[in-house]
Amino acid sequence: MKKRMIAALLAFTSTVAFAGDHGAPWSYSGATGAEHWGQLSPAYAACSAGSNQSPVNIVDAIHGQLKPLGMHYRAGGQQALNNGHTVQVNFEPGSSLDVDGRAFALKQYHFHAPSENHINGQSFPLEVHLVHADADGRLAVVAVMFKEGEANPALARVWKQMPEHAGDNAQLAKAVSAAALLPASHDYYRFNGSLTTPPCSEGVRWLVMKQPVTASAAQIKAFADVLHEPNNRPLQPINARLIVE
Ligand SMILES: [Zn+2]
Repeated sequence: MKKRMIAALLAFTSTVAFAGDHGAPWSYSGATGAEHWGQLSPAYAACSAGSNQSPVNIVDAIHGQLKPLGMHYRAGGQQALNNGHTVQVNFEPGSSLDVDGRAFALKQYHFHAPSENHINGQSFPLEVHLVHADADGRLAVVAVMFKEGEANPALARVWKQMPEHAGDNAQLAKAVSAAALLPASHDYYRFNGSLTTPPCSEGVRWLVMKQPVTASAAQIKAFADVLHEPNNRPLQPINARLIVE
């Protein structure tokens, strides 16, 4: 009887916790790993029930008339934060991206190692996501792949003040611009997708740069060492979506 009461109490407690909790703990492995995200909280339902999930393998892109991206980036990244899932640079207002006649403000960029999206079946050792939101809260993410090569000066500026432990944050000595992370060519793939972390919300405009930039082996290792484990969600089915280039 006592056991049953405790079980009921625990169930009640967890229901209460879930009802108002949009931040159930998650990770990239074990019981709270990616294959379980959809069951960790009702708020994360899209992680398992969604049909337009990210990341994806970018193949069979359709040739379209994609407009050049209107990128208006300036130095505004002031704070580097380790949130336990990634290292993120938060931006002050003032940097924006024009897509579909809408202005999306750059909010932050963060990293995944190895890459989350693949291009023609190829994974990359590192991927950065530039996360933008418009006035109505719609999201647009610009992704850039890194291949191993020359050291990346833009990464070096952030890595120099790397927040090494979950919860650490660092005020950057000099504000950084997202423009410094972009490849020379701004040709891109476009598709409809989701956040790649809980709550896996859909309706995200994905804009993946075709041309990778470089990072040195030491720079890639420095990020992997801070994260302790790979922070890439597995590839998701493309289902009925088109990829346009
Ligand atoms: Zn991301």
